[in-house]
Amino acid sequence: MKYILLFLAVAVGYLIALLVKTKKIKLMSVFLAFSGAFLLSITLFNLLPEVFETTSNNIGVYIMSGILLQIFLEFFSKGAEHGHVHLPSQKLVFPWLLFFSLSIHSLLEGFPISEDNNLLIGIIVHKIPIAVILSLFFINANYKMRTTLVFLFLFSIMTPLGSWISINYEFIQVYKTQLTAVSIGIFLHVSTTILFESSKDHKFDLSKMSAVVTAIILAYFL
Ligand SMILES: [Zn+2]
Ligand SMILES: [Zn+2]
Repeated sequence: MKYILLFLAVAVGYLIALLVKTKKIKLMSVFLAFSGAFLLSITLFNLLPEVFETTSNNIGVYIMSGILLQIFLEFFSKGAEHGHVHLPSQKLVFPWLLFFSLSIHSLLEGFPISEDNNLLIGIIVHKIPIAVILSLFFINANYKMRTTLVFLFLFSIMTPLGSWISINYEFIQVYKTQLTAVSIGIFLHVSTTILFESSKDHKFDLSKMSAVVTAIILAYFL
């Protein structure tokens, strides 16, 4: 069930992109701000306490390596995880670098999803705006429909795959806490970047601020 939901998040994103097409909607950036605040809240309220409850040492080091890994991945994705897409729009080939960096990011994102936390909702809320932005990029850059769909399909199965691997492989279970800590680092970096970029030039924006506060309150009471 949760695998299908994760997959659908990307499909929904693509449909929204098809509907809005070239129109730059303000609503999108408000939703992105909401998703960033929501993901950050789930990370702080659910995931962090979870890893610190265990006896594992060096949790902080794993979190830090997650942050570093995400910084490294964004050299290749140019920030697609937090709502940026910059690619040469002249060569309309399959964007392999973007694909690999997004895949590693999405795979790791799937590992900590479990019954005990609200991360599944957090990831779904995070995936939709990213999928819309990615799809809009592909559509506006005149990529072939087939390339777009193949890319989005492969992108959409990475997080469910990560979640499935973490449940079905004992080897992974042993390192569950460490992997969750790495994912926490990734979430911290991505969500705070979204929040940072959503208040461009530190200008106050009532709708975005309301979205952020609503997301935090919702995540707290979930
Ligand atoms: Zn950025
Ligand atoms: Zn992500």
